[in-house]
Amino acid sequence: MPQSLYLWTDIPRVPDALKSPRSDGKGQANNPSSSRVIVSGMTHFLLTDALQEALRQAARAARLNAYAPYSGFRVGAAVLDEQGRIHAGCNVENAAYPEGLCAEAGALSAMVLAGSTRARAVLVVGAGGAWITPCGGCRQKLREFCAPDTPILTANDEVMGPRYTLAQLLPESFGPDHLSTP
Ligand SMILES: [Zn+2]
Repeated sequence: MPQSLYLWTDIPRVPDALKSPRSDGKGQANNPSSSRVIVSGMTHFLLTDALQEALRQAARAARLNAYAPYSGFRVGAAVLDEQGRIHAGCNVENAAYPEGLCAEAGALSAMVLAGSTRARAVLVVGAGGAWITPCGGCRQKLREFCAPDTPILTANDEVMGPRYTLAQLLPESFGPDHLSTP
């Protein structure tokens, strides 16, 4: 379902998205001070609770559209770009098993399609049980667009899980800077 890659490219920028009611009814989404921390080309970045929740909701919605007829293991991912936009993706399995795509790959594709190449935060949602972190291949894919301290968040359909940085998940990594000529 390739349209899933484009699902969130037209989503309102986060300050508008934050005006939506929170599903848990806590009402923090309308806190105007939270929306002001996100500016284009931001030099200061605070991953507020409201932003984390917006990422979780986007990833959860993507997870529900995952194509996983073989494993039944649905995953959703959401990426916050440098402009404050959220892009989501879901896993897409294939009868030729190795040709399946991870949710993170779909989210990154949507981000690039929307014109951004910098991710400020990433969140992955899986089903209950163990918390889902990006697989090894996706950690390298994220390395292309993330900084070492970019937050990588985990969650399930109900709550947030453990939080990491990309450097914690992929230490001593290889990236674009290694290919830059002196
Ligand atoms: Zn993966």
